[in-house]
Amino acid sequence: MAETPMIEARGLTKRYGPVVALAGIDLEVPAGSILGVLGPNGAGKTTAVRILTTLALPDEGHAQVAGFDVTAQAAEVRKHIGVTAQDATLDELLTGRQNLVMVGELSGLRRSQAKARAAELLERFDLADAANRVLKTYSGGMRRRLDLAAGLTTRPPVLFLDEPTTGLDPTSRVNVWGLIRDLVSDGLTLLLTTQYLDEADYLADRIVVIDHGRVIAEGSSQELKAATGGATLEVTLTTPQAEAVDALSRFVAGPVHTSHDGRRLRAPVRSASGLATTVVRALDEAGVLVDDVEVHQPSLDDVFFALTGRGADETAHGEVADVAGVALEGAIR
Ligand code: ATP
Repeated sequence: MAETPMIEARGLTKRYGPVVALAGIDLEVPAGSILGVLGPNGAGKTTAVRILTTLALPDEGHAQVAGFDVTAQAAEVRKHIGVTAQDATLDELLTGRQNLVMVGELSGLRRSQAKARAAELLERFDLADAANRVLKTYSGGMRRRLDLAAGLTTRPPVLFLDEPTTGLDPTSRVNVWGLIRDLVSDGLTLLLTTQYLDEADYLADRIVVIDHGRVIAEGSSQELKAATGGATLEVTLTTPQAEAVDALSRFVAGPVHTSHDGRRLRAPVRSASGLATTVVRALDEAGVLVDDVEVHQPSLDDVFFALTGRGADETAHGEVADVAGVALEGAIR
């Protein structure tokens, strides 16, 4: 029998006046895994986290976290979760250590326990040297590591991370990613929201893509990418040769686009395994001279574009789900 998920939401809706922040979303996170909730600004990510962490009430639907109902058993839910929010309420004028001790005490630890836990977390998150500096002197990366530590003071089995690396430089991001991965190998269950496709790709076991308060796709990163219809073949010819399109026809899964100068050919392909070599051989047999053959695997960017008709970093509310998007949604859900 399948284990009960650590986080489970069914049909969550939330309206703010005329704004529909959530239009009925379902989520499920098995114990010891990472769910990435991916979506552009305003998609409803923070609202979902606020409901799951008992900071907001849903208008409709229900959710359980660590086996407790988020509305009927909010106090129990709070005892079992850690939250690292974008606007974590740490005190700029306290040191890193004082902040962690304060959070520990507010969470019900005795002072001695809170101090011991703070020391352990500072060590673990590589902040021991900065422990006695006031928070306002911390870099963005140090600050995020302290946010993470603060979410873990009570050793919660479930952790919510709202955009854990927004605003960090690339090195600090990779550093925080490593720490997040380690948490799951300790058995923690994690829900993280992100606007970054590479972050979801790297960290999440499963991804739900939300847009305008709805789940528009879900699956592993590989499944989402596969559902875009596979990879793209790009061939650069030494000189334009009309025979090339014919020679490629048996490998491609759609029309072959030719560049203005006639040298670059581009087409979707279903399977990419061993393809480049086979294509070079076929072109060679057809007497076509080739400079380069590349098989480009779809990125999550391609997935997002196929689903919504816009890039993940574009906030404009365009038409959702063009023809490709609808087909893709059908394939995934
Ligand atoms: P971001 O990445 O910008 O944080 P998000 O995906 O987390 O975006 P939400 O913050 O959940 O999105 O917002 C979803 C929608 O609900 C947005 O249109 C937002 O303006 C609206 N909204 C959220 N909170 C409130 C509120 N307290 N009052 C009114 N509208 C709200």
